[in-house]
Amino acid sequence: MSILPQVLFLLLFSVAGFILYKRIKTIRQMIFLGRPEQRNDQKGERWKTMGLIAFGQKKMFKRVGPAILHLMIYVAFIIINIEVLEFITDGLSGSHRAFAPFLGSSYVVAMNIFEFLAFAALVSCVAFLIRRNITKVPRLRMGELKGWPELDANLILWIEILLVSAILTMNATDQVLAERGVAGYQLVEGLFFSSLIQPLFTTFGDTSLVVLERFAWWFHIVGILGFAIYITYSKHMHIFLAFPNTWYSNLKPKGEMKNMPEVTQEVKLMLGIQEEGGAQESPSEIARFGAKDVNDLSWINMMNAFSCTECGRCTAECPANITGKKLSPRKIMMDTRDRAEEVMENINNGGKGLDDGKALLGDHISKEEINACTSCNACVEACPINIDPLDIILQLRRYVAMEESGSPAQWNAMFQNIETSFAPWKFPPTDRFKWADKLKDQEAK
Ligand code: SF4
Ligand code: SF4
Repeated sequence: MSILPQVLFLLLFSVAGFILYKRIKTIRQMIFLGRPEQRNDQKGERWKTMGLIAFGQKKMFKRVGPAILHLMIYVAFIIINIEVLEFITDGLSGSHRAFAPFLGSSYVVAMNIFEFLAFAALVSCVAFLIRRNITKVPRLRMGELKGWPELDANLILWIEILLVSAILTMNATDQVLAERGVAGYQLVEGLFFSSLIQPLFTTFGDTSLVVLERFAWWFHIVGILGFAIYITYSKHMHIFLAFPNTWYSNLKPKGEMKNMPEVTQEVKLMLGIQEEGGAQESPSEIARFGAKDVNDLSWINMMNAFSCTECGRCTAECPANITGKKLSPRKIMMDTRDRAEEVMENINNGGKGLDDGKALLGDHISKEEINACTSCNACVEACPINIDPLDIILQLRRYVAMEESGSPAQWNAMFQNIETSFAPWKFPPTDRFKWADKLKDQEAK
């Protein structure tokens, strides 16, 4: 027997593994363009959040129809990959259905589960294609999705359809060959879904069927390896990143804003308060206030950007977007990822990295967009994997306000009032209770 298929398989597997390793390394580098941030507290709560939101898809079930379709694809993806273990064993050893003799009747049960999931995923992908391209859900037709994002979303559905079709074709042709007693094929009685399409192949000759069965087998395994590499270039990285992303969720109550350590430090310096156990940075050494570019954001912000599925649930709930403002929280996440990729490309091409004369703020995200945000947190609440676009918006706005004094004039007046009168209105704090004094006077009369 020729060992060429095994050699080819090993080669393919090694090349795909190497490309995947390089890509994962690059994505890690892009995420860690962001500055350090510690978020390891409340571990129990974090595991629970990840279990409910990422594994349990809790937030997806706010809309039951799409949630069930998504769940089918998700479960199929996880469970069918168990079958890939048999593919790998067969590919490396030159066997066929290597697990069948060991698993006995359980093998048929497992195969039927795989076939059911393959069929359910196929139906779900077709439904999603219809929803995206024919019924035209508004949040899936917005301007920021034009070009690659739209193509990516459609491509992935077609790839999944082809991959699961290959499983069913492979099983159907394999069983027709087994029934004919062709050497190397073993009968697995009771495969329900593939038996439905078996009649399509009964008129084929043995040689054509073997070619078709082998083609479907190779197509599936090459497809899975290609798919694994492809998703690292696609919005589908959420398949993996949703888990760490939800683990590192912001567990603070929504609306509680983070103090800026740089400001706290500067105030302490001004008041002469010494940090415990060490020298303090002088104001000239203090990092930039707020964020202008991706390296000013935290690595968690960056991971958020690479986890975004571009579903647009955030934008559909955003009051600024609904009332016609330029802001789309989905675009904020997409722009952050695009800028990280741009910087990485600069680095890989021996270029200037972050010093390319561009920045996230200005070249990707405009002041008009960030100024339209009401800080309502609706986008954070809507996101199925707890992404926080507001955190990025606030950091960009802090940069504009504190480094450029570039906020709208009305805001600057308000900031000044807060600084001098401790309230947004231009009343001295001593006058604040005058309204109550008037009431007291009226009561006394
Ligand atoms: S926090 Fe800002 S971006 Fe998010 S939904 Fe509210 S207005 Fe839109
Ligand atoms: S931030 Fe969340 S809700 Fe918004 S597009 Fe990305 S995944 Fe969807």
